[in-house]
Amino acid sequence: MIPISTELLIVGGGPAGSFLASETNLSDVTLLDKKKVNYGPVICGEMMPKAELLVDYLPSELMNMIEYTLYKSIKRSVIVNHIKALRILIRVKGIMVDLGSVNFPAYIVNKGLMISNIIDNAINRGVRVNFSSTVTGCIRHGGGFKCRVMDDNGERYVEASLLAGADGYSSIVGELTGNPPFNPMDTAVATSQRAIGWGGGYDEAIVVMDPILAPGGYAWIFPRGDGSSNVGLGVRGYDVWVRGINPVNLHYEFLKVMNLKPIQRSVLLKTIPVSELGARIDYKGAYLLGDAAGTVVSTNGAGINTAMVSGLILARVLKEDLSYSAEMRRVLGSFLSSVKRLRALADPILEDEYALAKLITIMPKETVKWVIKEAMLASMNPMLRIGARILLSLIKVKGRT
Ligand SMILES: Cc1cc2nc3c(=O)[nH]c(=O)nc-3n(C[C@H](O)[C@H](O)[C@H](O)COP(=O)(O)OP(=O)(O)OC[C@H]3O[C@@H](n4cnc5c(N)ncnc54)[C@H](O)[C@@H]3O)c2cc1C
Repeated sequence: MIPISTELLIVGGGPAGSFLASETNLSDVTLLDKKKVNYGPVICGEMMPKAELLVDYLPSELMNMIEYTLYKSIKRSVIVNHIKALRILIRVKGIMVDLGSVNFPAYIVNKGLMISNIIDNAINRGVRVNFSSTVTGCIRHGGGFKCRVMDDNGERYVEASLLAGADGYSSIVGELTGNPPFNPMDTAVATSQRAIGWGGGYDEAIVVMDPILAPGGYAWIFPRGDGSSNVGLGVRGYDVWVRGINPVNLHYEFLKVMNLKPIQRSVLLKTIPVSELGARIDYKGAYLLGDAAGTVVSTNGAGINTAMVSGLILARVLKEDLSYSAEMRRVLGSFLSSVKRLRALADPILEDEYALAKLITIMPKETVKWVIKEAMLASMNPMLRIGARILLSLIKVKGRT
């Protein structure tokens, strides 16, 4: 039963909202999610890098928090496959160039089960959780908030002192914090489906860089270890909304190119931010978390761990009476901004087949492979940025804003 009032209302029970719910020490907490069941379906590649892969790349405080989220969320029952390597393919003018693989220890998880376990943990700690409950709008009301909710019984209203928008991008709480929408170049529309037919090894994930097939992003095959794979691609929002490219058509083209056969009827798709933290992620009791706040790592589209970290940070902030915005910017903000600058450097190559073709003709394969791995892992290595600038001037590509 949805309460009439609550101290903290969490909108959305994905990685960010579920983690906040399971970590907060507030005693009167309600989580609402529009999904019918705890928890699915998910639109995701379900890949989570292992700590050993991230440890050399992340600032130490962020790494500590990610290790904590992994410890809390990755149980043996949620791991469906262990990935050892990442194979990088580049496709230019229809020709596939195999750059070989790099060490890439990661889990493929059952994300639905993982989140459902975290939510069960929150319920055991006294959090009220309601699925099939869509929050359709929230306003400031009497020093707190009032939200309209649609559930199986119709319309109802919930009042809350604190409001957490963990509902993905763009968030229903965004207007209450005054967070402006991201530029279309700073968003991606990503597709997801399960498919069979991939003939490669079970322990090797595949990424395909192809500015025609996945402009501004990449396509992927993440084997699940049982003969099926999570497959999909990310297309920059600019290409979808300004250039009118349909990501679902590209998704089908990708399946054809890779000889993959879908085993789920529909292609699921969702918009994610590929930017940095939003300009205003909290304001007078309203907070944005996870994708709603812009926590996705913009060079690779990964956002599960960083969303959980934002939930962990808000739980601590509410416990210790700190500033959410300040804590988020300290732990995640400068890292995400630095990654975004790297992504912006790579954008011209990700959007231009000619530039990508030129890159692989003038640069040794091993170097291109190293650059892609470092960029995907959001490396802080200054050589990467210096090298990228020199290369871009050599191949004379034009950017897009
Ligand atoms: C195709 C695709 C593949 C991806 N692959 C990976 C990957 O392999 N690894 C990785 O780390 N990241 C991946 N990501 C990114 C990752 O899924 C997100 O960054 C992460 O899930 C963000 O968590 P979140 O809790 O902020 O938001 P979400 O996971 O989007 O959760 C939001 C929740 O809010 C609920 N909700 C939304 N609106 C309302 C409303 N109005 N009322 C009530 N409930 C609402 C939704 O039902 C949902 O449960 C992928 C994203 C996509 C789209």
